[in-house]
Amino acid sequence: MRPVGAPDMSDPAPEVAVKVVVDRSKCISLAVCETVVAVFELDEDAELIVHDELVAGTDPDQLRVAIQSCPVKALSLDD
Ligand code: SF4
Repeated sequence: MRPVGAPDMSDPAPEVAVKVVVDRSKCISLAVCETVVAVFELDEDAELIVHDELVAGTDPDQLRVAIQSCPVKALSLDD
């Protein structure tokens, strides 16, 4: 029997479509986000690439840490 208030782990987590939005007018290629999760990568021209295909498989808490770590608040979630 499950304790009152404990999550029912037999139910699969609902699929949530999350999209990372980059405000490119703010991004100054500091690469802080890149050091937190592999979703973010700077290319050879220091342009930020968002690997959307990796978002669903990334720990949501880590994704939020990466987004909040951006010093110029160029990242947000559209969910
Ligand atoms: S941390 Fe912010 S400024 Fe730096 S690359 Fe990422 S989005 Fe751009």
